[in-house]
Amino acid sequence: MKVLVINCGASSIKYQVLDSDSGQILQKGKAERVNERKDGHGRALEEIPATIDVSIIEAVGHKVVHGGAKFFDSVIINSEVIDAISRCHESASLHNHANLAGIRTAIEILPNLVHVAVFDTAFHSRMPSRSKNYALPADIVEKYNICRFGFNGISHDFVSRRAANFLQQSLEELRFISCHLGNDASACAIEFGHSVETSMGMTPLEGLVMASRPGDVDPGIVTMLCRELGIGATEHILNRKSGLLGISGLNDMRDIETKAAEGFEPARQAIAIYAHQVRKYIGAYTSVLGGADAILLTGNIGQNSAVIRQRILQHFDYIGLRIDYDKNNDVNVSEQHPVIDISAHNARIRALVVATNEELGIAKETAKLLGGKTIVQPAKPIPIAISGRHAHLDRHTMDILFGTNSELEVFKMISQPGQYASEQTVNLVGPRDRINGVRVLGPLRRNNQIEIARTDEFRLGVDAPIRGSGQVEDSAPIILEGPRGTVNLKEGLICARRHIHMTPSDAQKYGVEDGDEVEVEISGTPRDLTFGDVLIRVSEKYILEMHIDTDEANAAELNSGTTGDLIYQKPDSPAEAILSSRRDRQLD
Ligand code: ADP
Repeated sequence: MKVLVINCGASSIKYQVLDSDSGQILQKGKAERVNERKDGHGRALEEIPATIDVSIIEAVGHKVVHGGAKFFDSVIINSEVIDAISRCHESASLHNHANLAGIRTAIEILPNLVHVAVFDTAFHSRMPSRSKNYALPADIVEKYNICRFGFNGISHDFVSRRAANFLQQSLEELRFISCHLGNDASACAIEFGHSVETSMGMTPLEGLVMASRPGDVDPGIVTMLCRELGIGATEHILNRKSGLLGISGLNDMRDIETKAAEGFEPARQAIAIYAHQVRKYIGAYTSVLGGADAILLTGNIGQNSAVIRQRILQHFDYIGLRIDYDKNNDVNVSEQHPVIDISAHNARIRALVVATNEELGIAKETAKLLGGKTIVQPAKPIPIAISGRHAHLDRHTMDILFGTNSELEVFKMISQPGQYASEQTVNLVGPRDRINGVRVLGPLRRNNQIEIARTDEFRLGVDAPIRGSGQVEDSAPIILEGPRGTVNLKEGLICARRHIHMTPSDAQKYGVEDGDEVEVEISGTPRDLTFGDVLIRVSEKYILEMHIDTDEANAAELNSGTTGDLIYQKPDSPAEAILSSRRDRQLD
C-alpha cells in the first residue's frame, strides 16, 4: 500500500510517501521552523500536494505522540477520535496540538483518503500494572490520571521486529532490551513482542539522559527548583536546558565526541554520564526480563556512534554480553542492511545495531489496520464496575440474622442510584468451606439473592447457576450466618450473569434494547478479552455501567473505573460488520 506518512512535530513537519511492503520511499519532504510562521502547521501542510504526486496515495498515516489512557492501538481518524486526542492528557498537549493541526489540515486537503492515527504510546499501553504505576497516593493518581505512558513506542516496536527477522526467530520467543538513542532517548524491555517496562514515564522527561532533558533526577531537585525559580522556568530547564546540552553546552553527539577527544572536560562528562545511565537501565531490564536474547541499539546515536556503543556495552561479561570491538567500529547500517550483529562469537546475549524507520513503522501500521474490509465505527465505551461477592436479603431473613425489625445501616453508597453497601455482613457456609464477612447490600429486597464468583463456588463446595438478577427460583441452597441466627436458604445462591445497566436514552444511543445480548471488548490490559453473552438491562433507574464479578475482572486484569467497548449488537447490524472485520484481521 502507498501511504503518505505525516510526522507533524512542534517545530517541523516531515512527510514521506512510501510503499508499506517494500519500504521504498517514493517521495518525501520536510518543512522546518513551522512554529515561527503564522498558521505554521496548516500553511506548511497545504504546500504538500504541490510537492508530491497525490494520485498514488492510498492512505495517510499520522504519528500521534500521546494516546493517553484511551488509545491502545492505531485507529481510523474521525471527529470523535480527533476530539479524544485533543483531550488525551495535559502533559501531552504541546505534542498532540501539533499532531492535531497536521491531522486537521491533512483531512481538509485530502478528504477522500482514509487517515490513520498511529500512537507513540500504544506499544506500551499493555505493560503490566507493576511497571505502569507509580508509588504515589491512590487518590492523587486517580484524580490526575498519573501513570507511565512511555514513548518512542513506534521505534521500539519496529526495531524489535527487524531484530527478530534478522535472528530468524519468532518475536514470541525473544526478549529484547531496546535502546532508542536519538535526540529523544528511552530504553524498553520487550518480552515476546510486548513492552513490559520502559524508561520514559508519564512524560518523556524520565529515564535516560537526552539531548536537552536530564532523564532521571531526584524529585526533590524539581520541587526545589520550582520553589527557587518558579514552575515555568523549571519546566524550561528540564526540557530544554539539561541533558547533554546542560552538561557540556553542546547537544549534538558528534560535536561532543570531537570536543571530548580534544580534552574538553564537560564533553567527557556528558559522554560518561550518558553511557552510565544507559548501562544502568540495561542492567535493570535484564533483571526485569530474567535475562535477554539481545540488546538493540538504535536512533542516530545508537546507530552511528561506535564510541557510545562501546562505553555502554563494555564490562557486561557477567551477564554473557560481549561485543567484538572491530565489528563495533565497522558498523554501517542502512535500509539494505538494517541490522548488524556486533557481539563476540561466544556471547550469550547478542548486541545488535538496528536502523529504525519510524515512517515505515507508521506506514506498515496503517496498511495493517486497513488490510481487512474496514468499516470501523467509533467505539462505544461502557464503564465497568467489578462486584465483589455480596448478599441481598429479604425482611424475614434479615429478622433472623440480625434481629426482629433490625435495619441495614449505610456503609457507603454504590453507583446504581439508591443502592448502598451496608455495615452488615453475613457468613456463607457451604458443605466444603465457609466465607466470612460477605457484605449485605441495601435496601432489602423481595427475595434473597446471594451473588458469588466461580472461585467462591469451588471454595464453598456448591454449584451455583448463572442467573440474571431476580432469577433465583431453583438456584443453589446456602447457609447464612448472622450475629443473631442462622438461615438455611433453600435457594438464592447464584453466579451473576454479566450485564450492562443503561437508561432508555443510553439504549437508544447504543442501538440496543432491554434483554439484548451483546459483546464487550476490553483492550489495553496485559490480557485483552472480549466478553460474550452480556445482557442489556434498561431502566430509568440505572446509570450506564457493566457489572462483572471478580473472577471475570481478574481474567482481563481489569481494575474498576476502566471501560470496555460495546462492539456487537445483532447479526447484520453495522456493529456486526465491525466485529467481523476485526475477527478477520485477527485471523490474518
Ligand atoms: P530523534 O529522531 O530522536 O530526533 P535522531 O535519531 O535523529 O534523533 O538522533 C539525533 C542525534 O544523533 C544527535 O545528537 C546527533 O548528534 C546524533 N548523531 C547522528 N549521527 C551521529 C554520528 N555519526 N555519531 C554520533 N552521533 C550522531
